[in-house]
Amino acid sequence: MEEFDVAILGGGITGLTAAQECAKKGLKTIIIEKNSDLGGLLYSIKSGKSYIEAYYHHFFTNDIFLIDKLKELKLDKKIDWVYASTAFLFDSGIYELSAPQHILFFKPLTIEEKIQFIFLMLKVKLTKNIEELDNIKAKDWIIKNSSKSLYKKMFEPLLKSKFGKKAEEISAAWFVERINLRGERNLKGEKLGYIKGGFKILIDALEKDVKKLNVQIILNASIEKIEKKDIFEIFVNGNIIKTKSIISTIPLHVLKKYCLFDQYFIKKIDKIEYQGSLCILVSLKKKLTKYYWTNIVKKSEIGAIIEHTNFQPKELYDGHLVYIAQYPDNDSPIWQKSEEEIWRIYFSELKRLFPHINDKDVKWYKVFKGFNAGVLYKKGFKKNLLAYDTPLKGLFIGGLFNMYPERSTNLGIKIGKELAEKTYQYLNNKKLSI
Ligand SMILES: Cc1cc2nc3c(=O)[nH]c(=O)nc-3n(C[C@H](O)[C@H](O)[C@H](O)COP(=O)(O)OP(=O)(O)OC[C@H]3O[C@@H](n4cnc5c(N)ncnc54)[C@H](O)[C@@H]3O)c2cc1C
Repeated sequence: MEEFDVAILGGGITGLTAAQECAKKGLKTIIIEKNSDLGGLLYSIKSGKSYIEAYYHHFFTNDIFLIDKLKELKLDKKIDWVYASTAFLFDSGIYELSAPQHILFFKPLTIEEKIQFIFLMLKVKLTKNIEELDNIKAKDWIIKNSSKSLYKKMFEPLLKSKFGKKAEEISAAWFVERINLRGERNLKGEKLGYIKGGFKILIDALEKDVKKLNVQIILNASIEKIEKKDIFEIFVNGNIIKTKSIISTIPLHVLKKYCLFDQYFIKKIDKIEYQGSLCILVSLKKKLTKYYWTNIVKKSEIGAIIEHTNFQPKELYDGHLVYIAQYPDNDSPIWQKSEEEIWRIYFSELKRLFPHINDKDVKWYKVFKGFNAGVLYKKGFKKNLLAYDTPLKGLFIGGLFNMYPERSTNLGIKIGKELAEKTYQYLNNKKLSI
């Protein structure tokens, strides 16, 4: 029976990169993916002349691993750098905050709060003792370094829209590192990158490349269990795949069902809490705002509105494309509702927030429910970050749970490359010790 050097669990950007890098090193590689397509959270649909991601995507000027991968795949000509605009929707109206000078005219804040905001951002830039902040809540740190009123007006709604009920548990280390992660921002705003035609172009190019490198791919895979003897045996779709090593990029609480890990490692895994992401993609005949990204600070079911075609040319797509985004808690009843029910709830909320929109303005919509789409960066998260090694020698892990301080395509590529190198070293050492 055929035997592989490495089996990659999950065909998202991390798994695809790991597969490509392993195959480039001459390893006999197979990808095992549960969906009918590769791409994972970068799943896209066709709209007009382009593809559009199910979940909004862009990148930063300092996303060097992604930019290098695009160069390697000769896709760098497709990179589009755009000064993207950001706004906040308050009860009193909508206000832009794309560039540093906008804070001076930002009406929702008092003069005192504007000064506190500027000092808080300076404090973020100058903070070096990040490890200490891992044990402090972002809420407490923001209030200590600014004021309760600034926290309530700006940061509480932002944290709630990203982390739901768990917002108050998020660590100050994450808050500081997340802000410092951002790329180039100047008086014109923040420069964001996009792949002209959609991130699907990157996924397709990787798929083509791994196929050229003779990587085998199993789609619609249903893994039953993984056993470790002298080599690994993966029981999938009624077959047994034999492999010397495994790279897993799937959620840890799913992996732990397949493998026999010790209690100590299971405890470590259980400290990582995943969260879902709900994106409703709607094609409208009218714009909601003139901005790319609008944070909904006003009390609402909706966390943010992302108007993709205020960022990319509308002519490339079928209509004005808008994401209605929210991160409901894992136990929220919304996950049990049908696509139509979710649409009705969120569209009526959209009409309340933007009364110039009505039913006739909708061309089409799609609801995307992303379970395990991210992790909660709670107090102590950084301390509990997992390494690539596991107690099962030859089984390596990487993915959303060790992307810090934010999940990203860039970190998926970095982690995929590092996992491939780790696996290559492991297999070489094993060969030498025989
Ligand atoms: C709403 C949203 C917005 C985002 N915006 C951005 C952005 O603007 N910029 C950016 O860079 N990043 C963004 N990201 C993050 C980015 O999409 C992820 O960091 C990246 O795609 C993660 O890749 P991955 O391969 O590690 O994980 P995934 O894409 O989740 O891939 C894991 C794969 O494993 C498969 N799998 C799961 N279980 C099994 C199993 N049992 N057996 C086999 N296969 C299995 C899944 O189907 C999936 O294909 C966003 C994510 C979300 C949810």
